[in-house]
Amino acid sequence: MNAAQIHRAVVVGAGTMGHGIAQVLAQAGIAATLVDIDAACVERGLAAIRSNLDKGVEKGKLAAPDRDRALALLSGSVHLEQAAAGAQVVIEAVPERMELKTDLFARLDASTAAGVLLATNTSSLSISQIAAACRTPERVVGMHFFNPVHLMKLVEVVRAKQTSAAAATCALDLARRIGKEPIDVRDSPGFASSRLGLVIGLEAMRMLEQGVASAEDIDKAMVLGYGFPMGPLRLTDLVGLDVRLAIAEYLSREIGPNFQPPAILREKVARGELGKKSGRGFYEWGT
Ligand code: NAD
Repeated sequence: MNAAQIHRAVVVGAGTMGHGIAQVLAQAGIAATLVDIDAACVERGLAAIRSNLDKGVEKGKLAAPDRDRALALLSGSVHLEQAAAGAQVVIEAVPERMELKTDLFARLDASTAAGVLLATNTSSLSISQIAAACRTPERVVGMHFFNPVHLMKLVEVVRAKQTSAAAATCALDLARRIGKEPIDVRDSPGFASSRLGLVIGLEAMRMLEQGVASAEDIDKAMVLGYGFPMGPLRLTDLVGLDVRLAIAEYLSREIGPNFQPPAILREKVARGELGKKSGRGFYEWGT
């Protein structure tokens, strides 16, 4: 297991995170196959990558031949086992539901060689519990990317109880190889980033609910007062309200009442106001 020897990767889940992860792998010269259960999601994911890369070229941040080289390394599939054959790493980015992840890891464990690194992009779920679905749990590790993946430098590498030193080193080196800055974190609910980020996001929602200030002004307080690059409500719209609700429910069970989801979050999710991806969240995004 050696990050320098990785030349083929599979990313499972072609949504917000999956397509970004496939993009940065391809830009680093690693052939990446985007796998989803839904062929339309695969197509959307590949189109989003093309659009990101085109924007990079338009802005002069990326040379056209580099865009073309990355595009040539990308492919899509709806056949997980077939796509995973021949890959040295699989990175999972399916929705934040434990049973979905454990089913997937059991399948990946059965269909890939023991030397293949199996990484999950979960924002908060227990990596040790996901690893426990595998016969070779020592190769399971968290690789938590941030949104939008092609712009955000951080990758949280999370060591499960079972993760071997070789697997953690491989994930840390892979993150560096694709131009990211990894941090090394022990598996614990919400890791280092989600735990802290969510507390601020949920408190901002409670303040909005209580009429303390508008969404714009709450966000402005953190941007101008604390130097955040973006306010917590706008960030929630980018992450997805459904994604943040699922994490809050999990952390409120695991850590305590600070993470209880506010009513406004539950109501918005029930109405389908999921943030940027649905056109409306705490802000209007259009369609
Ligand atoms: P998303 O809903 O945008 O995309 C998930 C994709 O997975 C969908 O295209 C769906 O069709 C596909 N999918 C569902 N079941 C599948 C299966 N069994 N096999 C293959 N594909 C399947 O979700 P997302 O926002 O990209 O989040 C994915 C993961 O990344 C979650 O664990 C989330 O917590 C984590 N994460 C999200 C963010 C964020 O900002 N959205 C940031 C960091 C981590």
